[in-house]
Amino acid sequence: MNDATALQAAPLTAPTNTAPKVGFVSLGCPKALTDSELILTQLSAEGYQTSKTFQGADLVIVNTCGFIDDAVRESLDTIGEALAENGRVIVTGCLGAKSDAQGNNMVRQMHPRVLAVTGPHATQEVMDAVHLNLPKPHDPFLDLVPHSFGVAGLKLTPRHYAYLKISEGCNHRCTFCIIPSMRGDLVSRPIGDVLNEARALFEGGVKELLVISQDTSAYGVDVKYRTGFWDGKPVKTRMFDLVATLGEIAAPYGAWVRLHYVYPYPSVDDIVPLMATGKVLPYLDIPLQHSHPDVLKRMKRPASGEKNLERIAAWRAACPELVVRSTFIAGFPGETEEEFAHLLDFVREAQIDRAGCFAYSAVDGATANALPGMLPPELREERRSRFMAVAEEVSAQRLRRRVGATMQVLVDAAPGMGKKGGIGRSYADAPEIDGVVRLLPPEKISKTLKVGEFTRARIVGTEGHDLVAVPV
Ligand code: SF4
Repeated sequence: MNDATALQAAPLTAPTNTAPKVGFVSLGCPKALTDSELILTQLSAEGYQTSKTFQGADLVIVNTCGFIDDAVRESLDTIGEALAENGRVIVTGCLGAKSDAQGNNMVRQMHPRVLAVTGPHATQEVMDAVHLNLPKPHDPFLDLVPHSFGVAGLKLTPRHYAYLKISEGCNHRCTFCIIPSMRGDLVSRPIGDVLNEARALFEGGVKELLVISQDTSAYGVDVKYRTGFWDGKPVKTRMFDLVATLGEIAAPYGAWVRLHYVYPYPSVDDIVPLMATGKVLPYLDIPLQHSHPDVLKRMKRPASGEKNLERIAAWRAACPELVVRSTFIAGFPGETEEEFAHLLDFVREAQIDRAGCFAYSAVDGATANALPGMLPPELREERRSRFMAVAEEVSAQRLRRRVGATMQVLVDAAPGMGKKGGIGRSYADAPEIDGVVRLLPPEKISKTLKVGEFTRARIVGTEGHDLVAVPV
């Protein structure tokens, strides 16, 4: 889930000589990224500037990730670096909410010099700490906020795609995961706010909206699917209504809507027809983690009783274009060779288009650590490699079927107006986690490519996880 994306905020517009400067580092998953965007928007609205370097800043904010041990290490290292180079550091994010075995805050234990520490989604607390340590400019230029995204605020992603967070927290208690203990139970954002933000993003030029949460299918469960209002009309706080309305809002802009972190509940059956009719992309990111019912039970996975193979087959029958991405864990405590073989068969039979796999790694505080049958690390790693070999074979085979087809591609990079080609993605590729479409020089000399615009491209080959195509 966490791809440890490190981003340095772009400088804000219209600098003044006196405006205080804040350095910002955002680590972690897309959910952390949206927290960063909220803080940066608020800073900008109050007249703070951002600094590209630690030395050039009056204070540094580090938004941390605490999901896996590597991410914890990276976050602690970044805090140490910011302290060494700047000395005035505020820490926020998932790691900020973590305590060690004695109940001491982990960040404060390691770095007692930090000015303040907050958990995730704590924009106000972070702003309070900023005000305390770096007072607001006296005469803020309120128009410093780039208005191109309106109520959606400042984005850290490239201008043409954006993450839309629909809820915080999670009601599940998967045994390998500590996110609920860091982020709490599910809290759905009001549907009117979510839809307003989506419209503002499209108005600001976003061509691809990526819907994220910890559990997208559970949207609205916490508010009992309350009816909200948007554009003067009642809309239920429910996944189907959200997705259908997002599809309607996106249509006039010719933009894509992509769904992440969807669990295979029966309710997803209703979303598939929206994909078949082109309202939203026929792409589902479903973190299945395993296929064997006993392993899923030990993991306490949501929807573990569902018949995933049959369900995916039915979705594909209703929407043949459907692309399924998923993540899995190999070598979970107690996993037998037979259970692992079940997983390999599943990936082959379900024809998972894009699969990622982690070798099980114990996360501090996760209940799975107490399960019997912990496997040796080498065996977990070996199973991960075996899994990836099978998954890549399936994926490559599914990619090859696209050769000869013409697809719509969203251009992510096009140096020199794309005269020598560029990089893009089709509906089958989510940014940062899937493959790309390598664009060759266009067929017609007069054709140019522009970042953030769509082009049609004829697929002429495959290269690992990527497609190779000629813009037409
Ligand atoms: S569904 Fe499971 S893995 Fe995902 S956030 Fe909730 S508890 Fe963690």
